[in-house]
Amino acid sequence: MPELPEVEALAGYLRQRAVGRRVDRLEIAAISALKTYDPAPAAVAGRAVVDARRHGKFLDVVIEGDLHLVVHLARAGWLHYREAFPATTPLRPGKGPIAVRVRLDDGSGFDLTEAGTQKKLAAYLVTDPAAVPGVAKLGPDALAADLPTFVERLRSRRGQVKGVLTDQSVLSGVGNAYSDEILHAAKLSPFAITDRLTDAQLATLHAATRQVLGDAVERSLGQRAAELKGEKRSGLKVHARTGLPCPVCGDTVREVSFADSSLQYCATCQTGGKPLADRRLSRLVR
Ligand SMILES: [Zn+2]
Repeated sequence: MPELPEVEALAGYLRQRAVGRRVDRLEIAAISALKTYDPAPAAVAGRAVVDARRHGKFLDVVIEGDLHLVVHLARAGWLHYREAFPATTPLRPGKGPIAVRVRLDDGSGFDLTEAGTQKKLAAYLVTDPAAVPGVAKLGPDALAADLPTFVERLRSRRGQVKGVLTDQSVLSGVGNAYSDEILHAAKLSPFAITDRLTDAQLATLHAATRQVLGDAVERSLGQRAAELKGEKRSGLKVHARTGLPCPVCGDTVREVSFADSSLQYCATCQTGGKPLADRRLSRLVR
């Protein structure tokens, strides 16, 4: 799933490439992807793209006249910028991975696509981004939060730090992949309970959050949007690296189930060398 660094890079790419161009047409190929009906997609025709922003993991394409095309890419969504489209005929709804197409006045534009059969990509055309329910409940941005804000937010929710860090209402932008990386960098167990973290541990976690996200934004911005793939992230130390050596200490990266997915961690770096019990597995065995 695209997280803060990838969405930031997509917004950066659109700022360079799309801002200043006028929208020719907004086409909705997957009817279920568009969650709003007023304003209608035709409202953006002839208006200029004035900015591209990020709210947590939401991308916000700002269009002249206070219009916002807000997109949540979900697990398998992506944005593909096209220098040109093969045909001028409108997309036929219902077929293929393209959910939304935005054609610009220079013949270029972008497709919002979603791989797989689970269609969760959500697009909203609104006059205020806060009208999008997921945006309205976002906590402070994980990369922008200063230490006092970060500490206050983490302490506001008692729970396993992995779950609290990925709760978008606590802090926005961090998902499964970067939370694994942040906790590894901070040398914290993903199962540590937030209200038992010391001030020093929270300060380390804050620094790790900025470092990991900041580095990932840098790396993502360095790539062209066409090559920016969520599943081709580089520089990850533990996430999606089960069975491989930890680049810090050489121990084997381990995995346990967490929520509806799994998390990866290094026992030597994060849990005093003790592997975490896979609760789901032990429940099954018992
Ligand atoms: Zn390690």
